Amino acid sequence: MGKPENTDLTAAFRKGFSCGELSTSRRERTKYATVKAAGVRSFLDGNFDDARTTFDVAGTSTDSLEERIAMCRMSLECGRRMGSEAYKNPAAAAEEFRKRCRDHSTLIKLQETPDNYLSYMEFLGQEMPKAGAYMVPEAIKVGEIALSVFPEDARLHAAMHELYTLAKGTNSEYEDKAHECMVNACRLKFDDPDFLIAKFGKKIWEKKSEGGGMETMPFVQMMKHRKNEAPDNAAVMHKYGHFMLENAPETVPMAVQFLFKAYILDQSLPGIKGDLAKAYEKGLAYVRANPEFDISSGLLFMLRQIKSLADIKGKMPSELEMKALAKSSDSDIEVPPPRRIKEWLDEYIIGQERAKRIIAVGLYSHAVRVTSIGEKGAEDEDEEMKKSNILLLGPTGCGKTYTAITCARILAKMLGRRIPFTVSDASKITDEGIWGSKADEPVRDLYFVAGKDLEQTQKGVIFLDEIDKRKATEGGGHDVGGQGAQQQMLKPVEGSIVNVRLSRHGDSIPIDTTNILFIAGGAFSKSSSGESLTEKVAKSKGGKLGFGAQGNELKTDELLEAVTPQDLIDYGFLPEFVARFPIRAPLYELTRDELQDILTKPKGAVLRHYRRLFREAKIRLEVTEDARQAIAEAAQKLKQGARSLNSVCEVIFNNMLYEMVGGNATELVVDGDFVINHWKKKGQ
Ligand code: ADP
Repeated sequence: MGKPENTDLTAAFRKGFSCGELSTSRRERTKYATVKAAGVRSFLDGNFDDARTTFDVAGTSTDSLEERIAMCRMSLECGRRMGSEAYKNPAAAAEEFRKRCRDHSTLIKLQETPDNYLSYMEFLGQEMPKAGAYMVPEAIKVGEIALSVFPEDARLHAAMHELYTLAKGTNSEYEDKAHECMVNACRLKFDDPDFLIAKFGKKIWEKKSEGGGMETMPFVQMMKHRKNEAPDNAAVMHKYGHFMLENAPETVPMAVQFLFKAYILDQSLPGIKGDLAKAYEKGLAYVRANPEFDISSGLLFMLRQIKSLADIKGKMPSELEMKALAKSSDSDIEVPPPRRIKEWLDEYIIGQERAKRIIAVGLYSHAVRVTSIGEKGAEDEDEEMKKSNILLLGPTGCGKTYTAITCARILAKMLGRRIPFTVSDASKITDEGIWGSKADEPVRDLYFVAGKDLEQTQKGVIFLDEIDKRKATEGGGHDVGGQGAQQQMLKPVEGSIVNVRLSRHGDSIPIDTTNILFIAGGAFSKSSSGESLTEKVAKSKGGKLGFGAQGNELKTDELLEAVTPQDLIDYGFLPEFVARFPIRAPLYELTRDELQDILTKPKGAVLRHYRRLFREAKIRLEVTEDARQAIAEAAQKLKQGARSLNSVCEVIFNNMLYEMVGGNATELVVDGDFVINHWKKKGQ
């Protein structure tokens, strides 16, 4: 056993001689100083065994937590220097470390300040030299107490984040807790980017692995909390923007936004000009690498502004110019082929293969027509394209409204602009003057949905639901709506200037409906005034409606496919009205397997929604294959198509959300029996 060679440590021990002001009582102070000095002397002489005993005694003679921890550390170091068997074997060394920490935990009584908690946590959470032993679980316990006493201390949250991250392998809940602590620290220390960057580095700009999505990014969560102050704090925004730009490439659009705003607020910030030039370069590269990035997000707009504000030389890049042109025309947009459009539809709509192909072609021709206007001009009459309004035929709940919304979404993607969308109940549209609701109302609704932006309105999508209710009534009589309403709808549907009243007595505004896509939907079922459309078709084909290929029975699906314009006219529609919906897509009743897929597969599927709600409450939701089957079966019995899935899920999950959220449970496994029991309980 020689003298210790570690000069840093020796210096630290020497410094330990002066500890005069540490204890509250003079007597204790003197005693502590004396004992500690003796311990240090033994240590420097190489008498580690004596030194250890002396340090243990010294620890009891001071009421400073810091000093007690220092004594504990020193006595551990003595043990290591003694080269005892325990310290040679890593596992035994770890055990020895734990034992000593336990022995000392009574000794290390806490004085309740955040600093004391922090140093104690740091001490417990430290790694035992070479042995890899942690007292992390103990440190976490201390930290949880500390946070209950000082919930607003960002340093404690940051320390806990580190501890939970260290321990997440042993407890899966810790991953969520670590994230929560980081978000809290970010929220509390919003004004101190240096602290957050030092503690978390890139992490606060990374999405939490599970679930993805912007909202799981701690930085975004912090901004939500502090959204009122953020836009006023140029220096802070500059620091965040700078760091994001250098270190987190996926956040470039946000970094551009921050730097741009910081510059607008304070152009004298040191280094802001250079950062802005970098933001411009990286922003353009980002747009090029992510051509599908929603250009309406304003990134291109900001880049254009930055180019002129920061006096960035060079020709205006085409990406920025395109957006400038897009304001007056869409002619630079390349319309994707129908096959690609069908792939987009597949992401949302399960089954309905035939309808998706027809609709893909419909959307394609609509987009080509809209984007080529202004290129060819009205004089080119031969080339003038007809409107491709779409008629969706199918039973309740088969997804007509949903398909129309999806069409609007896909058009938005294709045209790179916001597409306003409204649903209007066609059964409410009547002949002028009878019930007062006129055919211009859907267009007026669209105008309001578009935030009174005329240009947007004129490129929107209107879904006319329950169009079948506007058939002409058979047998004469006073035709309330019916044919008169169809007449009223002809003009807007075809494309013309419609004078839209903005209020009952007030002004009206002319709106051009040439580029508005109308999608009409109806079940065309039996009504008091006649046969259903499929019955009519069956009759005209000389067969009868049925389920199978027995004799001359025809299946509903086949009949829907066979619907001709004449059948629609026979059903009660004006030939001119039918002609204005050249794209007709049949939607079928969904099979049980399709219903089961609808639960989980499409974007925004209902089970994903519940999984998310449970996850927010830190509960893992598992829905087994039989449970999904049972839900689909129960839904099928309700005969309301996919809409029934929502009703069944509501019964099953809403109650569980009520019972479980805010409780202690961390997991819910839903299997077939669970579904059947809950559904039965509801009396279904
Ligand atoms: P309809 O208008 O034909 O009565 P909806 O469009 O209201 O039916 O459909 C009800 C719900 O069912 C929709 O909101 C959607 O979530 C779901 N849905 C219906 N059909 C499908 C489908 N083919 N793929 C995915 N989801 C569907």
